[in-house]
Amino acid sequence: MNLEEKDKAYIWHPFTQMKGAATPIHIERGEGSYLYSADGKKYIDAVSSWWVNIHGHANPYIAESIYKQSKQLEHVIFAGFTHTPAILLAEKLLQILPAHFSKVFYSDNGSTSVEVAIKMALQYWYNKGVKHKTKIIALENAYHGDTFGAMSVGERNTFNAPFDLLLFEVYHIPIPTENNIDICIQKLHKLASQNNIAAFIVEPLVQGAAGMQMYHPDELDLLIHIAQKHDILCIVDEVMTGFGRTGKNFAIEHIAAQPDIICLSKGITGGFMPLAVTICTEEIYQAFYDDEQSKAFFHGHSYTANPLSCAAALASIELLLSEICQQQISFIYNSHLAFSNRIRRNKSVKDVRVTGTIIAVELNTTDDSSYFNSIRTSIYDFCLSKGVLLRPLGNIIYIMPPYCITHKELEIIYNTIEEVIVHHQSQLINVTQQTQLATN
Ligand SMILES: *Cc1c(COP(=O)(O)O)cnc(C)c1O
Repeated sequence: MNLEEKDKAYIWHPFTQMKGAATPIHIERGEGSYLYSADGKKYIDAVSSWWVNIHGHANPYIAESIYKQSKQLEHVIFAGFTHTPAILLAEKLLQILPAHFSKVFYSDNGSTSVEVAIKMALQYWYNKGVKHKTKIIALENAYHGDTFGAMSVGERNTFNAPFDLLLFEVYHIPIPTENNIDICIQKLHKLASQNNIAAFIVEPLVQGAAGMQMYHPDELDLLIHIAQKHDILCIVDEVMTGFGRTGKNFAIEHIAAQPDIICLSKGITGGFMPLAVTICTEEIYQAFYDDEQSKAFFHGHSYTANPLSCAAALASIELLLSEICQQQISFIYNSHLAFSNRIRRNKSVKDVRVTGTIIAVELNTTDDSSYFNSIRTSIYDFCLSKGVLLRPLGNIIYIMPPYCITHKELEIIYNTIEEVIVHHQSQLINVTQQTQLATN
């Protein structure tokens, strides 16, 4: 068997209906914004490989940091033991996060950082003897990961339907866009007055998997203030938005409110190693800090605080904070804004949204906006044929580039999106056509 045949014989790929699936592209190496395949093609990674590679591929500085650490200590049990990279990383994270955060709890992926946050919030009330606070509020269309707790707080949809009966009950309120904010506040007040709410969890400013749905920091500020006034712990899931994605290091730097727990993963190691953290306030920590053993937080994973991951994160954060990288982040934002003004005029475009380094272009399709929208696969294949990796969420094409991307590379991506629209005209509705139809 060749490698392609072995892949087919041995591997079950994520988020993929394996029957009829296209043969996966075999990537041999990456450099900067580019991925290079075994058959000699190259692709611009316009989605930072599922939103993790913030500094592009094979960054030599991060690679070197991991190599150095691996010769020193590759791993050690993290209960009863500690190590330098974990200590320095916790210190660094607390330095760059808002000052009210106090303790760093390590795990190894985004879903798990959310599980930890949920368990922390629930046990906080349990430890304090407040036994009736057991419910959670989340936003409609939320995505917080694929484990059971994370699925429970996420939107109920086709992806988690087989498990629906086993997911715990969660109240969902609408995403607080300008149009929805009044209903959203009303619902939050009503739920909060039940007095049984332990926590409120949100993806701040941008709901990623829902199709890069964006809302204003002021609305988020308002919701967190209301929730906290009702003694509800606020969890911000910054697994996607963290580490520069929204133009600031963290999305919560755009707001005044002080959430109680923050979840970070994805960009944390620049895409080199799996790692996640759940960071909480001193007040939460104090509810576990007790003479009673049973009040401890009994949670942990084999790879918790892996030293190689921590070393990668330290290097990645150092790069992120550099002036060059910060300039790149604002350059990407300004490029996106310029492109959004250009593409907005296109009649097949329903909406264009920009937050920091993220831009989403929503197309006017004959189909409904959903992940399984038929145009999705066609756009994906078209972009790949043009050497650009874009993974549309239904009829929503988004760009979430690595920060090292150049002006020229961004232009290639923008032009590809414009070509997508021309190429798919027959499946797109022209806005003027629509109005004509309505008036006829
Ligand atoms: C990707 C994502 C997760 C899940 O992270 P994994 O590492 O894929 O488990 C959770 N929350 C948000 C907002 C995400 O974008």
